[in-house]
Amino acid sequence: MTLSINDLIVSAPGSSCDGELAKSPWEFDGFPGYGPGASEDDLIPEPVVRPGQLPAAYQRMPEDELHARIRAAKQTLGHRLVILGHFYQRDEVVQYADFVGDSFQLANAALTRPEAETIVFCGVHFMAETADILARPEQHVILPNLAAGCSMADMADEDSVEAAWEYLTQFYGDDDTIPVTYMNSSAALKAFCGRNGGIVCTSSNASTVLEWAFEQGRRVLFFPDQHLGRNTAKAMGVPLEQMPMINPRATDLGVDAGVLRDARVLLWPGFCSVHKRFTVAQIEQARAQYPDCKVIVHPESPMPVVDAADAAGSTDAIRKFIAAQPSGSVIAVGTEINMVNRLAAEHPDKTIFCLDPVVCPCSTMYRIHPGYLAWVLDGLVEGEVRNQIVVDADVATHAKVALERMLAALPKDD
Ligand code: SF4
Repeated sequence: MTLSINDLIVSAPGSSCDGELAKSPWEFDGFPGYGPGASEDDLIPEPVVRPGQLPAAYQRMPEDELHARIRAAKQTLGHRLVILGHFYQRDEVVQYADFVGDSFQLANAALTRPEAETIVFCGVHFMAETADILARPEQHVILPNLAAGCSMADMADEDSVEAAWEYLTQFYGDDDTIPVTYMNSSAALKAFCGRNGGIVCTSSNASTVLEWAFEQGRRVLFFPDQHLGRNTAKAMGVPLEQMPMINPRATDLGVDAGVLRDARVLLWPGFCSVHKRFTVAQIEQARAQYPDCKVIVHPESPMPVVDAADAAGSTDAIRKFIAAQPSGSVIAVGTEINMVNRLAAEHPDKTIFCLDPVVCPCSTMYRIHPGYLAWVLDGLVEGEVRNQIVVDADVATHAKVALERMLAALPKDD
């Protein structure tokens, strides 16, 4: 029997990067406000069931019954429901997804089911916001647990980006700066890009997007993930000295005026708490243990890690890389553990393992426990839409401009 991540975390306390993960989400979400890592700036519709307030009946329900309820609700709702599951989602939940993919694929998948009345997004908040922006007005988008945010998305807020933008506009005195936001950002920042001639990117189409941006202007303001911005621009030949990291808290953005003058990519100091854990030492360790092993990492990893790996790419690119390796290959992967373990199960003829020896799932996505999924699906069967994500209409209009530019910027390998 294969152990799930949940089994591993619960059965071996101390084996994970966060001791809170061994608890049910309603236990560690039961603090005032949101739990650590949730998107505290997210717009939350009212009335709302706050984290920690999942009805007690669902908190106490045996796993078997939760799964029976999910299956029954799916059957009853039929084509009126579509469930989207991110690659990083836990197995107990992702098994019910009609589409499993990265954020680019799921944004497209949502568009392929216009007949569905409800989209249940088993991912994190910014993904559900994006689905709401792209969905038909009659469709509802549900995030089963509102505490499923993204800590990286919280690292760039609208006020800080606006302030940096104002400084840059005055400094350069031109309109040659193009804002590019990573998909992992609030709808407000996507709207900022839409209003200012910018675009959204994902890890799968980041280089296509940067090429597009350099056709529109001389330089790019890239937020929130410094690593994706740096790794992508470096692969395109932009010298490191022309991609300074700004300090949004400093009035002059903390960058020497001469450096700022020549900059091609201005990086925001955001990062992913899962991918920043990967190190060059882990790669050396993997190669010491398996001299012929291949190493592939996600471009949210730090630059020295990407440089030391054999390849880097989005979650979808990682899947394709692994599928292309011959039987018997050994592959060390630098991305989220749920996805790595799923890939290992899909390729029993290959040895596939996570570079990070500590079990470290995306702790915010992990909050979509089957209890929350059963609760929102039961609500739909009863005619009640729970935990609906609604993006403000004006924000959605501008964000859609930047998202449609993103959807037109196809990944290089497509
Ligand atoms: S893996 Fe990192 S970037 Fe992705 S949703 Fe989780 S915290 Fe955010």
